[in-house]
Amino acid sequence: MTKEYIRSDGRTYNTLRNIKMKVGILNNADGSAYIECGNNKILVGVYGPKELYSKKHSKPDGAVLRCKYNMAPFSVKERKRPGQDRRAIEISKLISEAILPGIFLEKYPRSSIDISVEVLEAEGGTRCLGIIGASLALADAEIPMKDLISAIAVGKVDENIVIDLSEKEDQEGEADMPVAIMPRTDEITFLQMDGHLTAQEFDEALKLAFEGCRFINKLQKETLLSKYGGM
Ligand code: ADP
Repeated sequence: MTKEYIRSDGRTYNTLRNIKMKVGILNNADGSAYIECGNNKILVGVYGPKELYSKKHSKPDGAVLRCKYNMAPFSVKERKRPGQDRRAIEISKLISEAILPGIFLEKYPRSSIDISVEVLEAEGGTRCLGIIGASLALADAEIPMKDLISAIAVGKVDENIVIDLSEKEDQEGEADMPVAIMPRTDEITFLQMDGHLTAQEFDEALKLAFEGCRFINKLQKETLLSKYGGM
């Protein structure tokens, strides 16, 4: 790998796309977040915790976390058919599993917490941005958390290990590896791998993912601080 490698959009191996975050932008949700990263635009709303009356679906020892990831028909170049497809079902499940270790669910027995991740515009990396936004929106809903979960994709493009793959790099590259971590404990809460990496490349990519996640975690905290001040 060369540290001098310049990517098709002008970035170096460890540069993220421009990323902006906001919280508390929806009045009717208990918590919300909006993220832009490159051309990605993602809105997350949290509803809950609210009492779950159904004995079949509720848990006596904690809240049930439900997440729904949805891509708007206008989020991609060719109109996407509305509704949940297999990809959306998979991403919904992985987002809730990635953020679960960060939440004190035991504080809300027999309750539910619902998270909606709405992708308004997509350009690669939406599952990671969904995790970042869900974590931010939960904090905005004042749900007690151990830490904000942060996520970023790393991968291999033109034989180089790079961070935050664009849609083009995801399609044309040799490997894509989205990772989520809880920086306070260094726990990996989610990792997927599409493509091939050698053991050495994997170590290098994971190190880069940790660096990226720590940077994002700082931005997430600054975003909350800018709304709520020094709590
Ligand atoms: P992620 O968004 O987490 O990287 P994928 O690897 O499945 O997830 O998708 C990569 C990118 O491909 C998406 O961010 C989006 O830009 C594009 N994409 C995904 N699904 C569709 C679709 N149905 N139609 C057009 N583009 C899509």
